[in-house]
Amino acid sequence: MKITFIGLGIMGSRMATNLTENNVNLTVYNRTEIDNSLFKNKNVLVVNSLEEAVKEADIVFSMLSTPEAVEEVFFGKEKALNSMKQNAIWVDCSTVNPSFSIKAFQESKSRNIRFLDAPVAGSKPQAQNAELVFFVGGKKEVLTEVEPYLNYMGKKVLRIGEIGKGASFKMLVNIMLAQSMLIFSEAVLLGEKMGIDKDFLLGLLPNLVVSAPFTKFKAESIKNNNYDVQFPLEWMHKDLHLATLTAYEENQPLYLANITKEIYAEANKNGMGRLDFSAIFKHLEKVK
Ligand code: NAP
Repeated sequence: MKITFIGLGIMGSRMATNLTENNVNLTVYNRTEIDNSLFKNKNVLVVNSLEEAVKEADIVFSMLSTPEAVEEVFFGKEKALNSMKQNAIWVDCSTVNPSFSIKAFQESKSRNIRFLDAPVAGSKPQAQNAELVFFVGGKKEVLTEVEPYLNYMGKKVLRIGEIGKGASFKMLVNIMLAQSMLIFSEAVLLGEKMGIDKDFLLGLLPNLVVSAPFTKFKAESIKNNNYDVQFPLEWMHKDLHLATLTAYEENQPLYLANITKEIYAEANKNGMGRLDFSAIFKHLEKVK
């Protein structure tokens, strides 16, 4: 099987590296030149043209930033789908909205290409350690062909349902993640204002039953004032935007996620987009 990976950012570079660790016949492509040391001494073909990247692939994985980027690469300006083999499989791991995944499926189907939406839970360390969880939308028989490769990059593969359902489920995870981070930040800042020691708050609050477990790790970032990127704040803002768009399409009110989106929008506008999303604490700290 010939496998191609497109999009070698924070997540994609690590996911592709895990494929190389398992002797996969791999070709990789990134829009801009990648750090030469990335695949040094690995058995991988690094190409500079999308056509070259996909034309012989049996399975193409993509891990791109936004629906706009995915569209541009696969069926917009660049049209990688037109260069793919008939009956090949495209697995989009990017976080996009469900209606976009359905559009991507239809574009694929019209060219006799099979499609799965397969976004992931987990961030930079989980991508590095092949501990991602894949949420998959699409046909079981297509997933069966792809699953061994997903298992090289992750620890669990959950088929949520038909096309778009992987993207749908991922959206729920991220609106909870974005809001939990904000709620935790507000609680710490108010606690400090009321005269409780910050280190005490950061140590104790994440361990309560009311707290989201991931806040334990983010408490460390706050404590060290270190917001080195794991999940870029700009993509959290994107995910909230996509969630509110989806809520509009579904005619479903989404009160708190809309407010949350605007707070992340403000932090993004203030230049925090390429910090970790936990920098929302730093943003709120400035307005306290
Ligand atoms: P990232 O480091 O910003 O990487 C984005 C990738 O998309 C890069 O390879 C970039 O190429 C490519 N790209 C952007 N626009 C493009 C375009 N118009 N044409 C071609 N390529 C384009 O982001 P990331 O953190 O890896 O995230 C990737 C996806 O995974 C996003 O959808 C994100 O929401 C999702 N995700 C991220 C995390 C996380 O913790 N980081 C966790 C789960 C899911 P260049 O290098 O040329 O810019």
